[in-house]
Amino acid sequence: MASAPSATAARPRLSARIAGIAESATLAVDAKAKALKAAGRPVIGFGAGEPDFPTPPAIVAAAQAACADPRNHRYSPAAGLPELREAVAAKSLRDSGLELPASRFLITNGGKQAVYEAFATLLDPGDEVLLPTPYWTTYPEAIALAGGVTVEVVCGPEADFLPSVEQLEAARTPRTKVLLWCSPSNPTGAVASRELTEAVGRWAVENEVWVVTDEIYEHLVYDGAEAASLPVVVPELLDTCVVLNGVAKTYAMTGWRVGWLAGPADVVKAATNLQSHLSSNVCNVAQRAALEAVSGPLDAVAEMRAAFDRRRRTIVELLSAIPGVVCPTPRGAFYAYPSVQEILGREIRGVRPSTTVELAALVLEHAEVAVVPGEAFGTPGFFRLSYALGDEDLRTGVERMGALLAEAR
Ligand code: PMP
Repeated sequence: MASAPSATAARPRLSARIAGIAESATLAVDAKAKALKAAGRPVIGFGAGEPDFPTPPAIVAAAQAACADPRNHRYSPAAGLPELREAVAAKSLRDSGLELPASRFLITNGGKQAVYEAFATLLDPGDEVLLPTPYWTTYPEAIALAGGVTVEVVCGPEADFLPSVEQLEAARTPRTKVLLWCSPSNPTGAVASRELTEAVGRWAVENEVWVVTDEIYEHLVYDGAEAASLPVVVPELLDTCVVLNGVAKTYAMTGWRVGWLAGPADVVKAATNLQSHLSSNVCNVAQRAALEAVSGPLDAVAEMRAAFDRRRRTIVELLSAIPGVVCPTPRGAFYAYPSVQEILGREIRGVRPSTTVELAALVLEHAEVAVVPGEAFGTPGFFRLSYALGDEDLRTGVERMGALLAEAR
């Protein structure tokens, strides 16, 4: 019997869409550092974007109580527990002045799912997204998964890593659908001024460009910097703006996986439909923990901010003392983003790293310090160091890296 012609040889095993996704560079660096540590090497990790503090006890206690309550053992609404949506709406008004009813919030499995769902909901194939660069490594992947096209708007340290309206306008085309905005920024720690925020918001309204604004670092600002919320500064933007946020960074809850997305009713409805097929409700126990977090005071955040601020000053001082390293002072989040450009091409321990990927590998091998190379954020020539780690490790780690880099000839 003649068999049907086989198409498998010509057919790729994986879809091009998924095969094209790069591994998260930040998680990869963190995993490698943790593996070396487990093997007994004294690695100090500056890779992960997570607070080193435990989740505050009252939040943990709420989760413990939630475990014992059978109401939490069942499916709950895909959009989130009604109490949590109410509390997040109240928290948004309290913290950033964003005034929206609970129905306009969708509780997601961490901020990452909110990023993915926002782009999946807004983009058709070929739609362009303006992405201020350096960018957080997840954005271009989420944009590509949704069929969108990333248009990088490169912003250097001379401009505090922030785009100007002129730059955005120069990058705009008839296909531009969305601007991604992230202030305070991962990876640079840059914080947009109220004036820039307002100018960008007005430009977006005038040009009918949607804005996806990621406010996950809203509480981590220093030196009097203010994290102004785009749709609050420019309310005309409310109908074409999606706000992303979550509990991970503010309450030291990275492992709990609770975030949210807020936006126009049709966007929230469509994103909820997507989530209802993708993952349904976020774990009820985690939602109950998040409810305790966002309903409670901001004392723990204030304590963490004070520690991060101290470490920020230390890391900038130590990095700036390394020959060939230029470190702008970040004013938000918990990252430093120094240039190591001057060290590339010089010899260290018998090799001449020509990229920051190679230099970071050398630093991990010989200084036993993990940093994320700038390639992960669209700007080779830089390192990202998270300073959300203990004061002593921070000092030892940067000093160890500094001693190695000082060998460059
Ligand atoms: N947005 C930004 C800018 C981030 O840095 C992160 C975490 N690295 C997230 C969103 C997502 O956080 P999570 O998924 O842990 O809530």
